[in-house]
Amino acid sequence: MEVNIFVETTFDDGETKKRNIGRLRRAPDEFGSESLGLLLNDAKTLLRRLQETIVQDQVGEAMEARRKCDGCGKQRAIHDDRGRILDTLFGRIRVKWPRLRRCLCQPAGVAKSGPQSPLAGLFSDRATAELRRLQAELGARHSFREAARLIEMFMPCSAQLNTTVRNRLGRIADELGRENVSQGDADTIAPPSPLTVFLDGAHIRCRPEYQKRHLDVVVGKVESPNMSRRFGLVQQAAGSPAKQLRHDLIAQGWDGQSKVTVISDGEPALPNLVRRAVRGPVTHILDWWHISMRVKHIENAVRGLLQSKGFSGLPLLFERPADTLRWHLWHGKVMTAATILKVLQIDCDRLHAETRELREAAKRVKARCQDLYSYLANNFDALVDYGHRHRNGLAVSSSRAEGCVDDIGNTRMGKRRRMRWSPRGAQRVAVTRAAVLDRRLGVSKRAA
Ligand SMILES: [Zn+2]
Repeated sequence: MEVNIFVETTFDDGETKKRNIGRLRRAPDEFGSESLGLLLNDAKTLLRRLQETIVQDQVGEAMEARRKCDGCGKQRAIHDDRGRILDTLFGRIRVKWPRLRRCLCQPAGVAKSGPQSPLAGLFSDRATAELRRLQAELGARHSFREAARLIEMFMPCSAQLNTTVRNRLGRIADELGRENVSQGDADTIAPPSPLTVFLDGAHIRCRPEYQKRHLDVVVGKVESPNMSRRFGLVQQAAGSPAKQLRHDLIAQGWDGQSKVTVISDGEPALPNLVRRAVRGPVTHILDWWHISMRVKHIENAVRGLLQSKGFSGLPLLFERPADTLRWHLWHGKVMTAATILKVLQIDCDRLHAETRELREAAKRVKARCQDLYSYLANNFDALVDYGHRHRNGLAVSSSRAEGCVDDIGNTRMGKRRRMRWSPRGAQRVAVTRAAVLDRRLGVSKRAA
């Protein structure tokens, strides 16, 4: 059989145009799984032709409509028609893109200002918004090369270069940075409410020419009672990291006044970044998860010690030190926890460690205890009654930021990917990836 595919366009002025855009042949004796219905290549060819037809008609009609002078209603003269290439998801299309002369009815100053294209400024990057968003989204999810390959595999668009994907993502990232969130807008979207900022950092490899081994990616989440927003930034590249973070806070409904709580690990640079963004004091809480991990390390070291050959005598504290420590820290009894840590270390010294194995194991316990002790001492001001917060439904852990480290940092840019980044390139991917994960880019929105 033979299938003919026609497109019929009816313009707003009533004129109709009909064209054949393709023909498929399916012979009865070739019937099988390799020839059933539309195949990807057929579909791509048809889509490309369909797009070409629709775009040409649409541009033609839009241009005609804009030829009329706003002042006197006469047709304006065409100055020149260089044509223009437009990239769409369904193919690269050369369209007529004439420039029109100014009408003589306009004041002399305007009339002499030269020809003007009525469609100017509608297509940044000479591409449709949809194609740009898809390139940015895939570029944020996969390597640029892989993104280019994926788009080309399914779409009849023009040949994709990894550099094009990279550049498009870059421009989208820059646009996201300029995204218009004024404080006035924020007020109408969500009532101002206290915000919690979860922060964490990741390291990614830096390209050799920047004389650094690593770049620091700051990732996190801004949460208000019913919304959350991810962010990512590279300290070395963001023009002003604090300003970018302030932008994210405002986008999340922050009114510039209400209380901001920061939950992060002991790295002082992170809460300081938020302080600069807020331009005032913030409440910093040491992340419970990071404390709990250090307690876990002690627990493992103590277990190692108990199982060592020749271990005798069981000072009371060695029985369940981790549970005891956790309980006190959870309830904000820091001094008691600190005392327990000191006593544990003294107990380790008093052990009759006859074998080398035992000595090593005791040394490990001591080191882990000292670790946690210094950690607590360095962050004393950021320790709270976690149990009390938790019972009141408040967050105690930046485990949500941990998720962001993986989502924004590691999955796309982590050390295992064996990629090296420039500060600016990493910044752009981090910003776009955060937007993609929040579904702020709007690629998948319309499908719903
Ligand atoms: Zn006119």
